[in-house]
Amino acid sequence: MNDLSLYLGLLSCLAVAATVVGVTVTAGGPEGRPSSPAEGTGSGGGFDDEAAPPRRRLAVIVNPTKFADVAEVHAQVTQIATRHGWAPPLWMETTIEDPGTGQARRAIAEGVELVCPLGGDGTVRSVAAALIGTQTALGLLPAGTGNLLARNLGLPIDDLEDALVTALAGTDRRIDVGTLQVAHPDDTQDELKDYFFLVMAGVGFDAAVMSEANEDLKARVGWPAYIVSGLFNLNSPRFGADICLDDGPAFHRRVRSAVIGNVGKLQGGVELLPDAVADDGALDAVFIAPKGIIGWAAVAARILTKTRAGHNRVEHHQCRRIELKLGKEEPVQLDGDPVGPGGHLIFQVLPRQLTVRVP
Ligand SMILES: [Mg+2]
Repeated sequence: MNDLSLYLGLLSCLAVAATVVGVTVTAGGPEGRPSSPAEGTGSGGGFDDEAAPPRRRLAVIVNPTKFADVAEVHAQVTQIATRHGWAPPLWMETTIEDPGTGQARRAIAEGVELVCPLGGDGTVRSVAAALIGTQTALGLLPAGTGNLLARNLGLPIDDLEDALVTALAGTDRRIDVGTLQVAHPDDTQDELKDYFFLVMAGVGFDAAVMSEANEDLKARVGWPAYIVSGLFNLNSPRFGADICLDDGPAFHRRVRSAVIGNVGKLQGGVELLPDAVADDGALDAVFIAPKGIIGWAAVAARILTKTRAGHNRVEHHQCRRIELKLGKEEPVQLDGDPVGPGGHLIFQVLPRQLTVRVP
């Protein structure tokens, strides 16, 4: 009980002490992608309310389980889009079999210039999968509790209309995409599966808790809460990891959690990866290994004060490639979605491969 109350106390300290720090939104540089037909308003420039024949078109890919009345949301989105001179959106719903990637591919084939997932962080990840490496822009509409990519990019997260107008009228910013190759235990040893993430990947306790959490609780609290509680959990087992950063020599650590991210801000203003920038072409990693109460308090302090270096229980790194060989298989989560256990993991960054509409 002592441990628990200390734990709860520290979590509330964390909520109080952490202040929301605005994320620096640097303008996406002009270079980085092969050129293709210009995006944005058509060749003529402005709109003519009644006469202009080809209206711009977006697709909205909605997770229907997130809304009590999908038809009402559909009507609202259509009304906002048409009021801003766009055609009624191509409206698609996710399914259990296809949480968004197939729908987004069809939307691109239909020639839309903007694809907006309308669901949780998992829907964002599935939809974005189809947009990587294309010029089609991702528009972020809030529907879950996390909305972590939108939070990290300084996008509206409380109001559907604000977010949609930003998606329709904003500018394009190209951001990095994180990839993960992982060998699952039931696969043949050398066969690596490919995944990607936009926010953060977690290995170890935070992913374990997330895998077991029920969906209702997750919807209410949001998956970032599990990262925080997971990192600070006193009794989670540590695991050994051989870590290789870029071309450097492998080194060994015993940790409770490893988090590798493209951006670093969680809910409540906690900055887990304070140096992470969405378009710097780098991944940021933190390895966390608290030992007992003292170590745990030290870890919390290090994160809250954003101290980066020189502490063996919170270790930050920045690189383009991270390879982890674990002593045993550990649960893995990508942007809040459990993807099963993995023992050999390779994280890499695809610099500026995804276009996102920002203010
Ligand atoms: Mg980065």
